[in-house]
Amino acid sequence: MGLIGFALTVLAAYGLLRLLAKCAAWATGSRYRAFRRLAGRHGGRYETRGLADSPIVSFPHGEDLVRVGLAPASARRPGVTSTRVVVRFRRGIPFRLDLIPLVSQRPRPQTRGTQPILLGDREFDGAFAVQANDPEMARDFLAPATRWSLEGLQRLAPPGGLALAVSPERLLVQLDRDLSDDPDSLFAAVSETLTIYQGLREGVRKRVSEGVTLIEGDGPSEALEGPPICKVCGELADGVAIVVCVKCGAPHHRDCWEFVGWCSIYGCGGKIGRPPAPSALGTSGSFPPRS
Ligand SMILES: [Zn+2]
Ligand SMILES: [Zn+2]
Repeated sequence: MGLIGFALTVLAAYGLLRLLAKCAAWATGSRYRAFRRLAGRHGGRYETRGLADSPIVSFPHGEDLVRVGLAPASARRPGVTSTRVVVRFRRGIPFRLDLIPLVSQRPRPQTRGTQPILLGDREFDGAFAVQANDPEMARDFLAPATRWSLEGLQRLAPPGGLALAVSPERLLVQLDRDLSDDPDSLFAAVSETLTIYQGLREGVRKRVSEGVTLIEGDGPSEALEGPPICKVCGELADGVAIVVCVKCGAPHHRDCWEFVGWCSIYGCGGKIGRPPAPSALGTSGSFPPRS
């Protein structure tokens, strides 16, 4: 009995020390220091979201907006904290693409209207699963510079811990590693993402000059089929921290909604989210758009 009591005391003391260390990190501002430095480097905004939620850094890039933050741990992959970088387009592009390493633990993305893409490069085709709506644009986009940056991103993440997703309104890079205290790696992740963004702009410009245009209207219905999947992170959207778009009903993780800033269903553009029914919270529970 005495031994158990002793063990419990040691455990409690350990927990208290951990808590104190965390508080000290908060007080001295060393937590998320990579995010703070990133904001300073790009003249951007460091947005704190209270004690429970991690901060978001945002800065303009050309006419578009870059946002960097941590993704909440998913129920399917407990203990994995991811860093994500999103570039939000001011003007939509006629392109959808999902890319994950073949060894990834994530489910293969199955976006409607997309098909598997092979580049004819054995090394690349043997390493990544790619789905896109426009094979030619995908090949233009996945030019050598983009592929090098993808390799650079892979080196920053554990094996298979990379995901890239392009939709008409944003480019999203997710790395399964917490880079919030590692400025060098975070800067590298952002810089590789911006190179990929450049490749995307060029690939799209080329195809648009050939007459490909943005087709409207594969919108809201895609959200309502199958299990509720968060369109930002591709994970199952159930549980407590869920926001539903008032306009189209698409479910998002609250964190993902705040991260992107509006509904991520193409063609919806909804900017107000609310907790899912039947909570009947009305507008008091709504989340205003963030810019
Ligand atoms: Zn999500
Ligand atoms: Zn919506």
